[in-house]
Amino acid sequence: MKFLSDFKKGIIKDKICLLRLDLNIDEINPDDWRFRNSLPTLFFLLKHKTKIVIISHRRRLNASFLKSRIRSSKFSLKPFADLFSQQIKQPVIFINHFNFPKIKKQIRNSKNSVFLLENIRFLAGEEKNNKKLAKQLASLADFYVNDAFSASHRAHASIVAITKYLPAYAGFQIKKELNILKQVRKNPKKPLTIILGGAKISEKIDLLKYFWNKADNILLGGGPANTFFKAKNWPIGNSLTEDAAIPFIKKIINSPKIRLPIDTQIKDRRILDIGPETVKRYAFIIKQSKTIIWNGPMGLFEKKGFEKGTFGIWQAIMNMKQNRQTQIIIGGGETIASFQKFKSQNSKFKIHRNIFISTGGGAMLAYLAGKKMPGLTALH
Ligand code: ADP
Ligand code: MG
Repeated sequence: MKFLSDFKKGIIKDKICLLRLDLNIDEINPDDWRFRNSLPTLFFLLKHKTKIVIISHRRRLNASFLKSRIRSSKFSLKPFADLFSQQIKQPVIFINHFNFPKIKKQIRNSKNSVFLLENIRFLAGEEKNNKKLAKQLASLADFYVNDAFSASHRAHASIVAITKYLPAYAGFQIKKELNILKQVRKNPKKPLTIILGGAKISEKIDLLKYFWNKADNILLGGGPANTFFKAKNWPIGNSLTEDAAIPFIKKIINSPKIRLPIDTQIKDRRILDIGPETVKRYAFIIKQSKTIIWNGPMGLFEKKGFEKGTFGIWQAIMNMKQNRQTQIIIGGGETIASFQKFKSQNSKFKIHRNIFISTGGGAMLAYLAGKKMPGLTALH
């Protein structure tokens, strides 16, 4: 894999870079984790006097949406032009159409350095890894940089096909993700604790399978814990579960590695959070661990009253500052949202060097589980 960070000064001066980022962000916010982590690559390119064309997707568009071609502002990348502009202190030109020859001319004739293209998933070819679209994108630039780790498990045109038509490099965030995740995947220090919560356990089963022999503790919360309760035939009312995962769960349910909540928070016959005794027990195990991998909130943290379990885990992680040699890896869209919520209420929270918050949800899980990542393979 070739990295942008290896470039010698001068080589990319006055060249045009097609930069793939992941701006799949619901609420426009300058503190957003993915947005913040997209900046180092951008600053590097600016320092080297490169023109930059940013491309990204935003949200998953359904088929009828693509057909009707109604470009709802909900999916538009337009607000990011201002957001980037505030950070880099120069104009960012938003381009709201896909007339590629016209875009090419505009970029070449412009005195501005940074351009942002509209949501690339507005074009049906993106998710089909379409060659023609890749060629059109390639016509805009001299080289390509992928810094969208969280989209690199997808074989899409602006992630995979594009690398056939331009020299392709990995950006700073991808480099950082790979350095840390590779080490944890291959050689996690023991004891290794995996914390799994969130909604669907099926998305996390490959991770469990991959680490099954290496893991010492598997702490469960959220939908996965409920599904374990169901597999035990315990009464769970209307709690969130995933029945399809029960056959797999039955195979591992009696392992001493599996830790289930010992108390829960219930409302309207639904288990919506882990309870305080469980938090204490999980915090104790966290404290003894040398590697921690966490994906998925412990409860319905978006709702007041059901954030305590998830925040309890964040508190336990925060207390690990005395245990700097413990490697902590955290990822997942809503897990990061819970972090941002916790941080806004706990100003003392600092991300120490031993805590790594991945920008990937599905991508982090896929990478850690040793699955093929088409977007990363394409950079080789
Ligand atoms: P991530 O995006 O971090 O990978 P998931 O997508 O798997 O996490 O799931 C996150 C969602 O799961 C959150 O919106 C959270 O509210 C929800 N959730 C967690 N526990 C429960 C629960 N007990 N009941 C209902 N929803 C839950
Ligand atoms: Mg999610």
